[in-house]
Amino acid sequence: MKNKEINIEIDSGSGFCFGVTTAIQKAEEKLSEGGKLYCLGDIVHNGTECDRLHDRGLITINHNELENLHNARVLLRAHGEPPQTYATAKRNNVEIIDATCPVVLALQRRIRKQYLEQPEAQIIIFGKNGHAEVLGLVGQTDGTAIVIEHYEELLKSDISFSKDTYLYSQTTKSLGEYNKIIGYISEHMEEGHTFKSFDTICRQVANRMDNIRSFAEQHDLIIFVSGRKSSNGKVLYNECLKVNSNSYHIEGPEEIDPEWLKKAHSVGICGATSTPKWLMEQCRTEISLRMVE
Ligand code: SF4
Repeated sequence: MKNKEINIEIDSGSGFCFGVTTAIQKAEEKLSEGGKLYCLGDIVHNGTECDRLHDRGLITINHNELENLHNARVLLRAHGEPPQTYATAKRNNVEIIDATCPVVLALQRRIRKQYLEQPEAQIIIFGKNGHAEVLGLVGQTDGTAIVIEHYEELLKSDISFSKDTYLYSQTTKSLGEYNKIIGYISEHMEEGHTFKSFDTICRQVANRMDNIRSFAEQHDLIIFVSGRKSSNGKVLYNECLKVNSNSYHIEGPEEIDPEWLKKAHSVGICGATSTPKWLMEQCRTEISLRMVE
């Protein structure tokens, strides 16, 4: 017996970005050719999608395991890799299936070119320490780039204002915070030194901030679906929370608490760039089933 009518909407702007979609398509295409296929790191920060591809034969390995792997096929995910990874693959006769997102690849090339042209200059990357994309970017400077994770870090960082400085951002960082960092460095640069910043934030993510906020405002309950490891997921979930305190971050339909649904008349389901559409559909089904219990 249905208790009440409830409107459930899946955000059409949520789900895989084109970089992740292409990487998964590449993996599926190669898996269908048969033979073993390895992936260096989780193909996407979503355990459920990783499990689905694992069931199809994709084997996730880490960098230490790559060191000991020979004569195999390895897929590089959308985040990209530093030059050392390509060197290891060559040494071990490993065939690389390169699914680095073209936006990340272009950024890597840009940083590499700048570094080779002026190795004594200071390269700063606004990004998350230890994140795969950032490791790939820092690798372009042979490990010399300085990583700034938050605006507040600038104040205690050892960056120099008396050196030519070039600033880049990880593709998924917040545009607002990046602009604050640009403002601070510009203000403090000493005369006679160049400071250039480049807007390298991917609009596949930046544009989602406004969209997800207006989506979250339209519903009285928000179910945000993404892996808890996803940095993009954390950013987007926080945007939902800013406008709708009745927002919950879950990894899958089994985490939906029936208590949340009791007072809701309109439920919005949304997610990160690493959230598969099919998982959001499963959440919709779960909510519908709960409403007829
Ligand atoms: S967020 Fe943008 S840069 Fe990153 S993988 Fe997706 S499309 Fe590529």
